[in-house]
Amino acid sequence: MPVLSNIMNFINIWKPLIEIVILWSVFYHIMFFFEGTRAIQVLRGIIVLSVAFFLFQMLGFQILNWLLTKVFAISVIAILIIFHPEIRQGLARIGQRNIFGTVLREEELDYMLKEICKAAESLVMDKIGALITMEKNDPLTAYIESGVMIDGRVSSDLIQSIFTPYNPLHDGGLIIQNGRIMAAGCIFPLTQNQYLSRIFGTRHRAAIGLSEETDAIVIIVSEERHDISLVYRGKLYKELTRESLLLEIKEIMKIKREDEQTKS
Ligand code: ATP
Ligand code: MG
Repeated sequence: MPVLSNIMNFINIWKPLIEIVILWSVFYHIMFFFEGTRAIQVLRGIIVLSVAFFLFQMLGFQILNWLLTKVFAISVIAILIIFHPEIRQGLARIGQRNIFGTVLREEELDYMLKEICKAAESLVMDKIGALITMEKNDPLTAYIESGVMIDGRVSSDLIQSIFTPYNPLHDGGLIIQNGRIMAAGCIFPLTQNQYLSRIFGTRHRAAIGLSEETDAIVIIVSEERHDISLVYRGKLYKELTRESLLLEIKEIMKIKREDEQTKS
């Protein structure tokens, strides 16, 4: 089998390089899974500890080496228990594609995004608070179950009526999944970030909390400060207009901007 032996020879020659590429890819994907979540700080800590561990081993520091081995053993169990939601989300992300990109046609997606941004603008002008979430890769089914099922076509009118005060579903978040308004009145996890300014109340904390645990795109219309914000992977984009909101969402979804498309 000359072909097989050629392949084996090739692998043998390039073994160190292949190992580096695989390691880099594994680290990259692990960082990608946990980016924007509270697990990222722990991950950084583990990397620092691992470097220290190898240094102690190389230098022959017996006691420190023994101590770190014990810390590692306990940490593995603690991490599995504390970060099981992040680990579950990370594993669920493997092999999944952007539902918005695959299920909806380009024009449908464009129409839907414009309707969402129009609703945000109308709500902010009417001084009505809102929390609108779009599922990306991570499934939001668990959060949909915390609210009331709707399964309706996305339209600015429907979004506005849901958030109208005294509507039974105006409290909590609205979730858009597969291009449909799936549920409203949903409860999201509040962020545990202690450094967040006190001017942000529970609506903002719920939006940031959800975006730390999933890759959902969350739009907040503030009832108090009358502005539109967007949260993605724990990062808050404030003081958006209808147009800049649309651009930010498209940027996140990696949709080519219209002006770029017409140029090419
Ligand atoms: P705003 O700027 O609009 O005042 P805020 O960040 O100051 O927002 P609150 O004033 O506390 O927040 O907003 C309360 C509203 O936020 C609730 O009426 C409810 O609709 C929504 N909310 C609060 N907690 C959650 C949660 N865990 N999940 C989803 N929505 C929530
Ligand atoms: Mg408030």
